[in-house]
Amino acid sequence: MDLASKGAERLRVLVINSGSSSIKYRVFDADGLSLICRGAVDKIGEGKGIRRHWTAQGVDWKEEIDIKNHDEGLGSIFQALADTGMILDKNNLRGIGHRVVHGGTEFKQPVLIDDGVVETIRRTSSLAPLHNPTNLLGIEYSIRKFPDVPQVAVFDTAFHQSLPPHAYHYALPFDIYKRYGIRRYGFHGTSHQYVARLAAAHLDRPIEDLRLITLHLGNGASATAISGGRSVDTSMGLTPLEGLMMGTRSGDIDPAAHFFIMRQTGKSPEELESMLFHESGLLAIAGTNDMREVERLADGGSERACLAIDMYCHRIRKYIGGYYAVLGKADALVFTGGIGENSALVRKKTCEGLEGLGIHLDEDRNSSVSGEISEIQLAQGAVRLLVIKTDEEKEIARQTLKKARDD
Ligand code: ADP
Repeated sequence: MDLASKGAERLRVLVINSGSSSIKYRVFDADGLSLICRGAVDKIGEGKGIRRHWTAQGVDWKEEIDIKNHDEGLGSIFQALADTGMILDKNNLRGIGHRVVHGGTEFKQPVLIDDGVVETIRRTSSLAPLHNPTNLLGIEYSIRKFPDVPQVAVFDTAFHQSLPPHAYHYALPFDIYKRYGIRRYGFHGTSHQYVARLAAAHLDRPIEDLRLITLHLGNGASATAISGGRSVDTSMGLTPLEGLMMGTRSGDIDPAAHFFIMRQTGKSPEELESMLFHESGLLAIAGTNDMREVERLADGGSERACLAIDMYCHRIRKYIGGYYAVLGKADALVFTGGIGENSALVRKKTCEGLEGLGIHLDEDRNSSVSGEISEIQLAQGAVRLLVIKTDEEKEIARQTLKKARDD
């Protein structure tokens, strides 16, 4: 096939995020990492699925389609990429990057995937039973489709492997840690690392000299303390349930509450787990997990919505204070994720009362944020307050390209 005539003469990087019920993908130009196309298949195995595909050249379609399993979903994605001339064969594909949720202690950075890596990811699945197995389906399909193209696994946990032992240990019998790997791993690492790098570039300072607190506030939410470009503490733990209040997840809760709830309600461990992951957080307090809706309800006088926002921001403030103490100071506080990037109210309420730490929010700047990076502190603020758009897929593409070039 004539690549040039299809507009696919340039080298590309494909990023695949194969989740439990949806598969998302993005294609970037390998030279400069501009976005070429993106899309997703949703509701796999649920009957009426949705397939979407968008390209920078103006294609934008969405259709209902019954996708029975991941292989079918991945097949339809590769077909769409070929049909729209985005990826035609191995010759215009520099690498494929795969998001993998849990790398355990084995993976401290992205790795080129081989049989051993696949086996290790499989072994790590006990730590992320809902995620790693479906991440692997994406990897295995892509290897079958493009066996000669470098495939790279990028782990949500890898960036946090620099945590010191006193930050990652739980105060539990040591045998539990040794036998089952029960410790803090942290998640959203790709996003925290990406915004930290952009913050350093924006501040025009070597990342090695900076102490940062990054807040990834999306449907899931986490805070990270970063010293010299290395994660030294983070709010998510063994699982992505710990830490901040989230859309549907509780975040921190007294561990003894679990046994109390089970005894009082008769819930099984699985039912309790589902409640903490899917029926808690903003949803439980305000009745919706969509922060835009929570804000609308609060505006309309809903006490529960106001309470949800107060709880949400109070919890973030506690982590900011904690991480300020961990770092000894903070050069910048970074807001990112759907809520961090878009909710002026959450940023404002989060910063309230933190003037003693050198955090002074400029309300005008806070309400007129735009572009990739904005600064929202007052002139006297010792801590730079940054709002940075995260782009996990672009970071995966960058790391994939780097790994494919290095090896
Ligand atoms: P995910 O973690 O699934 O990637 P996002 O990072 O897209 O999620 O964040 C989703 C959250 O961002 C939702 O709670 C959504 O309501 C919130 N959000 C998006 N835009 C706004 C906005 N303009 N104001 C307040 N919240 C917003």
